[in-house]
This record gives sequence, structure tokens and C-alpha cells, in this order.
Amino acid sequence: MTVRTRIAPSPTGAPHVGTAYMALFNLAFARKHQGQMILRIEDTDQSRSTKESEDAILSSLKWLGLDWDEGPDCGGEFGPYRQSERLEIYKEAIQKLVDAGYAYPCFCTAERLNEVRKKQIENKQTPRYDGHCLNLSKEEIEQKMQAGEPFVYRLKIPTEGSCVFEDELRGEVSIDWSQIDHQIIQKTDGFPTYHLASIVDDHHMKITHVIRGEEWINSTPKHILLYEGLGWAPPSFAHLPLLRNPDKSKLSKRKNPTSIDYYKDAGFIPEAVVNYLGMMGYTLPDQREIFDLEEMSESFDIKRMSLGGPIFDIAKLKWLNGRYLREKLEPKDVLNRLIKWKANPEFLGKILPLALQRLETLSDFFPLAQFLLDDIPNYTTDQLVGKQEALEVAKLLKIAEWEMEKMLNWDRNYLSQLFQKIAEVEELKLKQVLPAFFVAFSGNSISLPLFDSLALLGPDLARTRLRTALEKLSAAGSGLSKKGLKKLEKEYMQKYGNRID
Ligand code: GLU
Repeated sequence: MTVRTRIAPSPTGAPHVGTAYMALFNLAFARKHQGQMILRIEDTDQSRSTKESEDAILSSLKWLGLDWDEGPDCGGEFGPYRQSERLEIYKEAIQKLVDAGYAYPCFCTAERLNEVRKKQIENKQTPRYDGHCLNLSKEEIEQKMQAGEPFVYRLKIPTEGSCVFEDELRGEVSIDWSQIDHQIIQKTDGFPTYHLASIVDDHHMKITHVIRGEEWINSTPKHILLYEGLGWAPPSFAHLPLLRNPDKSKLSKRKNPTSIDYYKDAGFIPEAVVNYLGMMGYTLPDQREIFDLEEMSESFDIKRMSLGGPIFDIAKLKWLNGRYLREKLEPKDVLNRLIKWKANPEFLGKILPLALQRLETLSDFFPLAQFLLDDIPNYTTDQLVGKQEALEVAKLLKIAEWEMEKMLNWDRNYLSQLFQKIAEVEELKLKQVLPAFFVAFSGNSISLPLFDSLALLGPDLARTRLRTALEKLSAAGSGLSKKGLKKLEKEYMQKYGNRID
């Protein structure tokens, strides 16, 4: 048997370090066993999936050197590797499940489901589908389908007993069927859900080991049931602990930069990021701290992975990155990295037109450009607040953060529209809105043109600077309280409609 693992990112946002973490361990496992790792794009959520996100995920994993053997970009024997191109395969599987009595159509309306849910919560029961449509006769189903009533397909869950399976990391896991909902496997739009699509693909793509995040452990019984209904043997499962913020909550962009692009833009080097990701879940038998994928793969034993949620600590990553610059690279390599990163004519050439007006001598250039090379600029809360109310500044920063999250395109025009929109909605002049942003982004109340600079800075550094500014305000006791934030979020939802596009 050839070992085959996979990573299956959903292209719904910036490339996440959690995806890189999964890729690293899937690769180490596949390499250790002379196997292959494939990359599959799980884009069944059509409303949230974008090609930009897919491209960004692929290129950031490549930057890290976490390469795959088969995927949407390089093809392979078991393609296509994008789920939206495999709909017929899922339809066939769903039909098979219906015929075998493992799946059934459900016509319940959102209102009815809400009602059921409300009652279950009132009765202190776990909210789940009550099986209403299981009682429909063949004729009723046909009639409803012919009348064009919208429907989903659900998985029929056993009414008693439990599902027992072996997790490569945790040993035997047992979950009662009573805890499992009648999972929707095909939505009203005809698209399959993750659960159905991923198991069908894992089977057809001959995946032998599913190594994924622990948030899927409770879904595994559904997956095993799907395999059974389709008459297929399930693969082995290993659920890895999720990366955590320093406060132990699940790593989230609200508390930590989670985009791989942030680390690239902030001047980390890929080898150090990969080493750090490896070190968070795994210790080499000789306890060495500095290692690469190859060294990790040689001795890789999934059973040696730690089960505690590893804390993603940027300070530790910085320390490791520094060691790489000093111990692993020659000075000339560091220089080359520096040039490739931002000290190159292309990047500096984009800054120059913004700075030209303000130059008297060449030596004026670098101080002006510095904030575009920095990770986080230095400034005080007083500078940030200026003549405004601290709380108003905090609100504006938070709104900008939310608005930036919705941005699909990151360029000067969209950024300019974003700030115009904030000014309009808040009934302020643009020049009342912008001062705090100048400081948050550049560390100075006077700097290069803001929108052009932000376009060059990129979304990840920009968002991190907003978050840093908000944290500074909170640390100074003038930020948004929990209650204030909730209120602001409510107002924001009402006042700020759609994304700018
Ligand atoms: N598309 C899923 C995700 O992005 C993949 C989970 C899995 O590996 O099965 O989380």
C-alpha cells in the first residue's frame, strides 16, 4: 500500500498558518513512508470561495516549501482536484446512499427547523434535526420534488449505540450516535457539504491517512457511516491538536496574525516558520530544536506528536528566525533574502513616487519609507489619539478592521473608497477620520500618501497594525470595553451594508 495523505483547504480567506501546520505534518508522514501528499481545494461553499484565496493558499505553501505531489495546479491521476469540478461524482454517491437507505431528502423549512430548535433548547435537549422527513412516503417525496419544493439530503443516523473508531494519536474514540445530528450532505443548491464531498474524494483519491485538525473529531462518526453506506473501507484517522493563541483559545486572526502572508511580509524566513510549526507539535528523538522538513520526515512518528494544544508564540518564532539568520544562513544569503524581500528596485521603485515630493537629498528617502519596511511602527497612544476622543478613535479603528476583512481587492482605489465610506457613514469629514490612521499605519501623523502606502503595505501588515493600535488603546485603559464592542458591532452591522466591489 502506498501511503497517501492530503490537505484540503477551503479557499475562503487568507492562507492560514493552520493550513501550513497540517500540510507540514501530512508531508512529514507521507515522506516518512515514501508516499504522496495531495492538495485538494474544497470550494463547495460557493458563496465564500474565491480564486484569489485559492491562488494565495497555493503560493504561500510554495513559499514555505511545503509542496504537494498532486493538486489543481500540477494535476495528477485522480483529478480534478477542485471540488466544484467534481459535482457529478458526488451526485452519484448521494444517489447510492439514498438507495441504500443511508440518506433521505428533507423538505423542512427554515421556520420549522427554528421552531424545533427553540423547543429543544427550552427542554434542555441538544438541538438537532428531529427526523421529521424520515416519515415521508415515497409518493409524498415524489410529489414534493415534482412541485419543485426546495430540499436537502440528510444522513440517517442510527438511533442507538455508539460509533467506535481508532485515532492514530488518541487511540480508541467512542462517540454516542445520540450526539450526532442528521447531517446535511447535499444543500438546496445541489452542492454537497464538506462531509460528503471530502469522504467521496478521499476514497477516489486513494487517501490512506486522513490527518486533520481536532475540530473534525466529532464529525468522524458521520464520515465512517458514509463510508459504510457507500460500501467503502474508511482510511486511518489522526486528529491533530489545533494551534492556540497565548490565552489558549483557538488561534484566531482577532488575536494573532494568522495569515502566512503576514509572516512573509513582516520579514520572517520560510525555513524558520516551518521549523517553528514543526516544533510546536513534535519533538525530534534527539530533542534538537533546529530542523527542516527532511530531518523531521526521517524520524517522523505520528505517535510522538504532543496532544496538548500548541501555543503559537510570535516572540518564540522571532527568536528562532533570528537563529536562522545568524546560524543557518551565510551573511551573503541573508543579504540576498533581504534584497528579495523588500530591498529591491521593484518595491523601492513603488515607494519612490510617493516620497519624491518630499525629498531634498537622497538621505531623506529611507526615513520616509521606513514604515513600509517595518513590521510594527513605534508611537505613543497620545500620538494615536491626537486631538480626538480616544473612544471615537477606537471605534473608527475597529470599523476599519471589519471593513478591511470584507475587502476582496486590495488596491489604492478600494482603500480610498473604504475610508470615504467610513467618513460618510459616520458623518465626518475625511480629514477628521484619517489622522489616527496615519499614526496607526505609519507611526507618524504626517507621512506618505495614506492609500498608496496601504496598498504597498498589503492587507496583512495593515490589519496587524490596526490590531496593535487597538491593543495599545486598551492597554492604556481607553479602548472599547466588551460591552462597547458588542454595541458597536450591532451598529456596524446595521449601518455598513455590503462590501465594496
Ligand atoms: N476543508 C476543510 C478545512 O478547510 C478540510 C478538513 C479536512 O482536512 O478534512 O478545514
